[in-house]
Amino acid sequence: MATTNFYAPPSAIKGSRVVFPEDEGHHLRSVLRAQEGDEVVVVDGEGGWHRVRIDHLASNQVVGTIQESRQNVGEPDVHVTVGMGLLTKRSRFETFVEKAVEVGVARIVPLRTRHAETGTLRRERIRNVMIAALKQCRRSRLPALAEPQPVERALSTTEVDLRVLCHGGDDRRSFFDVVGETEPGARVLLMVGPEGGFSSEEVEQAEAAGSIVASLGSRRLRAETAGLVALSAVTLSGEGPSGTGESTCEKPAEGEHAGGVSVDDDG
Ligand code: SAM
Repeated sequence: MATTNFYAPPSAIKGSRVVFPEDEGHHLRSVLRAQEGDEVVVVDGEGGWHRVRIDHLASNQVVGTIQESRQNVGEPDVHVTVGMGLLTKRSRFETFVEKAVEVGVARIVPLRTRHAETGTLRRERIRNVMIAALKQCRRSRLPALAEPQPVERALSTTEVDLRVLCHGGDDRRSFFDVVGETEPGARVLLMVGPEGGFSSEEVEQAEAAGSIVASLGSRRLRAETAGLVALSAVTLSGEGPSGTGESTCEKPAEGEHAGGVSVDDDG
């Protein structure tokens, strides 16, 4: 029935029984007008994908039974962490997060950089954005969101096969050359600066930690655009012909949402 997936954390799933979180139950009952016997897809954010039959639709609780389970539906074949400079407008960072979940990011590390030391995050709001994107794009694993940290810490604590720092400049290696070296299954760290870019000290720190400094082309991109371009290039390069998931792209039905949060305002 529904064109969007539903989210229930592992704690809501006991054996084959799923107790829908209140907001998801409300959406099924009052917005989608689901009926007992209908089937929906539930993801648990930890790679679990379940086809669930709705057995009980009461105003205080919606309960279903798992009919079929799979693992890692919709997940990319590469594990990409994006270190993204905190941005002056929090809504831009949130837009980046929403799109990055869709494209396949595994982990996001907000960076406190020389040119963006004081930015803040609305963690609860970002988590809601991530869950809405997870359901909408039909992934099954919720990416991790690290605490804001300096470039040096992100470099030393992220275990990866390849580190790439995105930085403009004519003499840089092309990002595509670098990405061509990634293997399916690889773990990659991509670093993107804030509006003011990385300082030369941060670029040196990254190089000293074995990062490749690469260009995304001759146009200067907004930070969130740069992050998405780089992430897309890596996930697509590591993805097989059809990926591991179902890739149908459907418009949400009228009156249906993905439990989404509007990120247009910066309030
Ligand atoms: N004035 C800043 C500078 O010159 O570094 C511009 C920063 S740009 C708006 C924000 C971030 O996006 C940069 O720090 C970089 O990580 C990334 N970026 C934007 N355009 C890029 C490009 N053409 N090549 C590589 N990285 C780019």
